[in-house]
Amino acid sequence: MKAHACPVAKKCGGCQLQNLPYDRQLQHKQVRVIRLLGKFHHVSEIIGMEHPFHYRYKVQAAFGTRRGQVISGVYQSSTHNIVPVASCLLENETADAIIGTVRRLTADFGLRPFDDRTMRGFLRHVQVRVGYATGQIMVVLVTARWDFPRGEEFVSALLAAHPAITTVVQNLNDRRTSMVLGERSRVLYGPGSIEDRLGGLIFRLSPGAFYQVNPAQTETLYGVALAFAGLDGSQTVLDAYCGTGTIGLLAAADAKRVIGVELNADAVEDARENARRNGILNAVFYQGDAGDFLRAAAGAGERVDVLLMDPPRAGAGRDFLDAVCDMKPPKVVYVSCNPVTQARDLAVLTRGGYKVRRIQPVDMFPHTDHVETVCLLSRQ
Ligand code: SAH
Repeated sequence: MKAHACPVAKKCGGCQLQNLPYDRQLQHKQVRVIRLLGKFHHVSEIIGMEHPFHYRYKVQAAFGTRRGQVISGVYQSSTHNIVPVASCLLENETADAIIGTVRRLTADFGLRPFDDRTMRGFLRHVQVRVGYATGQIMVVLVTARWDFPRGEEFVSALLAAHPAITTVVQNLNDRRTSMVLGERSRVLYGPGSIEDRLGGLIFRLSPGAFYQVNPAQTETLYGVALAFAGLDGSQTVLDAYCGTGTIGLLAAADAKRVIGVELNADAVEDARENARRNGILNAVFYQGDAGDFLRAAAGAGERVDVLLMDPPRAGAGRDFLDAVCDMKPPKVVYVSCNPVTQARDLAVLTRGGYKVRRIQPVDMFPHTDHVETVCLLSRQ
């Protein structure tokens, strides 16, 4: 990217590396991963993207008012100020256009954007998710109350402007929180979820369920994880922090059995539905805390050959890691979006009898300083 190609780069702060040419960004991330994880093993060369723009297929914008105008964009870090964003170099362009239309319609329909200082107003956020392979589009209107004046007309106008939208959902978020989505949703149009295809399988995605934001690079990431798992059809695989079951279901064809565990109930339902839709009979999914689940499984004498784990940015809980060291699965494949917490967790696992055998960084988030890493560990 050219220096300051984006007019709001400074205020938005989302693209920390956009002043660097892409190859230098990759170098920068490589050095960072070596600094954090290099003590455990040699770090393979980071896998970058061929076209590192408009890769985000999940886009969200906060809504607000400035000088009487409806604005949408991102919160300036640690403030209540919304930085208006008209188009973004990282985001899917159709999603951006849809958010622009919602902005116009909000003004046309006289709906009041939410103000998080006074906790008044209606529309808080809009989230758009585009299926990379299917082109299906879900629009989630996050509102501070259920009552949606002229809601049907609003949705009709939105669909008329963007006939490619396949479903519209209203989500209620009436709490003082920086989280985008609240817990309850209702469908305004279409099936209430979208599908995407990945690695030859079809996945249903509900509004609250986690799905990688960069689907182009996700196949690469999962390809690395599965190559590290080295499955031959004989293994029992545990997919911990499994989201909608993506990694585990892709592993199922080469595994004897797949067990998934995930905290988010919507994601677990998606995972079960995804197993059904793909005719996968050797995968089961449980809802719950991964640490509790693993401790119970270890206590019950369950045997796992390969543990796939993909925790959120905070990393795995200490109880989870202790349970891994008790259960001693011969192989652990640890996918992480935060090398700082991964380094901390690898230290626990190596003290517990594991050795790191491979480290592969993958660039899932070009122009930002985030980096994804996949580590293979096995028993010493
Ligand atoms: N492997 C999936 C999801 C990874 S994101 C994918 O690639 O799509 C991390 C997931 O961990 C999220 O779905 C989140 O809901 C889940 N999670 C967070 N805390 C958890 C916990 N304590 N136990 C189980 N799952 C948890």
